[in-house]
Amino acid sequence: MERVISGIRPTGNLHLGNYFGAVKSFVKMQDEYDCMFFIADWHSLTTHPTPENIRNSVKTILSEYLACGIDPEKAPIYVQSDVKQVLELYLYLNMNAYLGELERVTSFKEKVRKQPDNVNAGLLTYPCLMAADILMHKADKVPVGKDQEQNMEMARLFARRFNRIYGVEYFREPASFHFADKAVKVPGLDGTGKMGKSEGNCLYLCDDEKTVTKKIMRAVTDQGPTQLNQEKPEVIQNLFTLCELLSGKEAADYYNDLYNNMQIRYGDMKKQMAADANTLLAPIRERILAYSSDDALLEKVMRQGAEKAAARAEKTIEEVREIIGFRKI
Ligand code: AMP
Repeated sequence: MERVISGIRPTGNLHLGNYFGAVKSFVKMQDEYDCMFFIADWHSLTTHPTPENIRNSVKTILSEYLACGIDPEKAPIYVQSDVKQVLELYLYLNMNAYLGELERVTSFKEKVRKQPDNVNAGLLTYPCLMAADILMHKADKVPVGKDQEQNMEMARLFARRFNRIYGVEYFREPASFHFADKAVKVPGLDGTGKMGKSEGNCLYLCDDEKTVTKKIMRAVTDQGPTQLNQEKPEVIQNLFTLCELLSGKEAADYYNDLYNNMQIRYGDMKKQMAADANTLLAPIRERILAYSSDDALLEKVMRQGAEKAAARAEKTIEEVREIIGFRKI
């Protein structure tokens, strides 16, 4: 059976970008593939969270994974830092990753621009850690949003490079997976770029009904089209993308026709989007509350996930050590 791996950084609550870009695929894939999902707490260290932040956020993300429908009996869930073998593979991959190619990664360049006071080495080698997570499990498919395409390309490059250097056919090249036929980039409610925690433009899975409605009703729009069949400016295109995700293609087509005829009323469109968002999120919200107060269950899920992931990771590390020429320990 094909193997699947993916993770999310515990840097706050899950938002619609995480849901449509990744978690929705996780839930779908667990019935068809050999899946494991993790909470990428090492990755989150690039932003220097406090110990309390980490402890709370790991618990939060785990509750949200479960609330979205990931069944740990089908797809073990583990915390990245519980599987220490990943660090050893990270070190090996770092040795074959070059400064120039790491500096050219778009998300790294963006961080340099946005947070010039904290350009740490972990940010630079982020693609190496991500590749270690994936290659460790010999994953065939990785469900990720569009923003991760370049990191996935790096993971494939590192797999090929390792195989070439050591003259082996050891690592598989992992493919990105999207639940629709193309990669999803969920736009933010401010009408620009992508929905992201650091952008402050998110709809969170745990937002209550009133907040969901308020956030969607306030989503940025313009004055409306001034000509028939007018090309949509970016903010409006983003609203339509969100509409299709929340309300479906038929609804998005209906509002698209109104837009083309200059009869669109954004308020009506947003009202429907808010109602559909609440229908989607109400049961998830309820389950988040239930799971997050069940510490014993969360602990058990993390422990069992770590055991399964570490067993697989240990096998890979033993094989990699032998390929590289290290002693068996
Ligand atoms: P992160 O929150 O950056 O750790 O991302 C976790 C997962 O959510 C990755 O697979 C991302 O590709 C996905 N993701 C995050 N934000 C978005 C977004 N706005 N649109 C689509 N996917 C996203």
